[in-house]
Amino acid sequence: MEIKGFIQNSLIEWEGRISCVLFLPRCNFRCRYCHAGHLIEPDMLESIEEQQVFAYMERQKNWLDGAVISGGEPTLHGYELLELIREIKERGLEVMVESNGSNPRWVEKLLKNRRIDAISMDVKAPLDVESYRRVIGVDYDVGLLRQSVALIRDSGIEHEFRITVLPGLVGPQEVTAIAPALEGAQKIALQNFQPGHCLDKGLRRIAPFSADNLEKMAELLRPFAERVVVRGEDRAVIAAAG
Ligand code: SF4
Repeated sequence: MEIKGFIQNSLIEWEGRISCVLFLPRCNFRCRYCHAGHLIEPDMLESIEEQQVFAYMERQKNWLDGAVISGGEPTLHGYELLELIREIKERGLEVMVESNGSNPRWVEKLLKNRRIDAISMDVKAPLDVESYRRVIGVDYDVGLLRQSVALIRDSGIEHEFRITVLPGLVGPQEVTAIAPALEGAQKIALQNFQPGHCLDKGLRRIAPFSADNLEKMAELLRPFAERVVVRGEDRAVIAAAG
């Protein structure tokens, strides 16, 4: 398994856990605000030895709660991903996967038999082809995304749906349109876009929403989930997965 990035410990990537974070290469989306350009076209990027990562987990297993597998899009790695999860769990850590939800077949495999302990899915836009294309830069079958939403929401496994907002692309109107599709979710996280290093250089000059505006959008979501959290610019994300 190619691992292209590794954070030894994070207090914020998985709420309530001290976790390490693994970044896997490649993605089937090209989100305009993606910070992971180096991961979605990773040929120049050196891989980190899997055994090095496992040795670290062994050493720190009394201190770490879990491992977050991010990307890129982790489900593109299929059976290799399942094997990675197995290896991590063998070392006594819980596992969370961050996905863009594009592959419900693999989302289902992850949820089945509780192979993982938590999952997050990015919901990029209202679930119609045109709105999604505006954000992810490619055409995608939104029916597959709806399937992933339903699988995750009904799984009984700890989960959150993440919505990244940015002026002119995903704002109050889009959040209002997305919300009903997530009804019954355990948690929705509203994330403010971070202009630095965006794939679309044109977005780097755009100012993110104010805290006030974020809070107003969070209010729109509150009737649809058990919890809604707002994340500003403090989240230590080296890859806007995924
Ligand atoms: S933001 Fe996530 S889903 Fe979008 S291109 Fe980047 S890694 Fe892929």
